[in-house]
Amino acid sequence: MCSYCLKPVGGLLFRWKNRWYGACSREHLNKIKEQLETGQRETLKTPMINNDAVIDAVSSSKDTYIKLAKENKSYVLHEWEKDDRVGLFREAIKEYLVICTEQANKGFSREDNG
Ligand SMILES: [Zn+2]
Repeated sequence: MCSYCLKPVGGLLFRWKNRWYGACSREHLNKIKEQLETGQRETLKTPMINNDAVIDAVSSSKDTYIKLAKENKSYVLHEWEKDDRVGLFREAIKEYLVICTEQANKGFSREDNG
């Protein structure tokens, strides 16, 4: 994920002190370096959450939810085995990233969601 624009695609990685930062482009890599050098990255930017993608990700992980609920004999999430709870969130987050990566690569129009 790009540390500057939060796009989930990024091929560039660089190290600053003890941390690694990702960047989607050389341009953003330079912006991040600039912010680090001038101490502008002390406060975290509010992450942008794509609500439509969250809704799609939740729908896509419904089958996993039902399967795990049956295995745990409960539809109450906090009664599940920890691995299964983590597994469900992993599935939803993975779906979310797949949707966002696709949108970042192809672009999307407002009408697609309407
Ligand atoms: Zn970027």
